[in-house]
Amino acid sequence: MTDTLRTLIFDQSSCRAHLVHLSKAWQQVVNNNDYPRPVQKVLGELVAASTMLSASLKFEGSLIIQIQGDGPIRLLVAECNSRLGLRATVKLAEDAKIPENADFKDLVNATGKGICAIILDPRNRLPGQAPYQGIVPLAGTSVADSLEAYMHSSEQLETRLILNSDHNTAAGLMLQQMPQHGGVVSSKAFDADGWDRLTALINTLQTEEHLSTETDELAKRLFWEEDPDGLAERQAHFECTCSREKVGKMLVTLGQAELDDALSENPTVEIQCDFCNANYSFTRADCNALFTESPDNEGSQDPLPPTLH
Ligand SMILES: [Zn+2]
Repeated sequence: MTDTLRTLIFDQSSCRAHLVHLSKAWQQVVNNNDYPRPVQKVLGELVAASTMLSASLKFEGSLIIQIQGDGPIRLLVAECNSRLGLRATVKLAEDAKIPENADFKDLVNATGKGICAIILDPRNRLPGQAPYQGIVPLAGTSVADSLEAYMHSSEQLETRLILNSDHNTAAGLMLQQMPQHGGVVSSKAFDADGWDRLTALINTLQTEEHLSTETDELAKRLFWEEDPDGLAERQAHFECTCSREKVGKMLVTLGQAELDDALSENPTVEIQCDFCNANYSFTRADCNALFTESPDNEGSQDPLPPTLH
């Protein structure tokens, strides 16, 4: 089982492709939660996309894709950091009923009010500095359609995405047209038909072949005539960044009154991480210490605090 990201540069066509094939890392996401199959499929596609988009991060930190849905799925989150450590989670509506054949639109854009946000969160953000966030309405009938529309409107980059996932594998292929050499004269002549030819090649890819083929083999099969430059292969992995310290900061933002309420009903406040299921337990003494240690704490640096259970 491998978790591989491979980047190819098509110099003459001014294009770049990322290929990702996630097995072990994706299965850790799957095993952390028992999501219905249609939900799992959409989440896997989002995880593959976030891994490919984070490959272009120019700072140390994380890229987070959030889809806020108006159907049975209320929130989908896939996060990948600049070391290709990834995690993901889903929040379903309380009474969600998910038919076996539910598609992307049924799940997150039932009334056309779903939105997609991409958040860039540098690790060493200054106090008070908000992460960068771009938001677009959900478009089309898939995660790929929505992200292509996002890239087109926010980055002005022509992008073609192919995303597939099942219980075992999350796979992605992203082709992007790059700005042409920024004034530097290339040693090779620009190939104006390159984009059309490359998109035609990736459109031949079938779901089953995509899910069952590692990135090196797939790159050879699809692009052997194009002679791309291959950058070093990178390994992705599951990584949750939750910690007792971050949970403590989140509890401070809830305020002493809310914690007192919770502690009047139970001897401890229990917090479970939505991404990895880690459990954090705080006694009354622990909670009191949080407020005395950081009386004017501004709150959590984590844009996605865990849930109070
Ligand atoms: Zn966690």
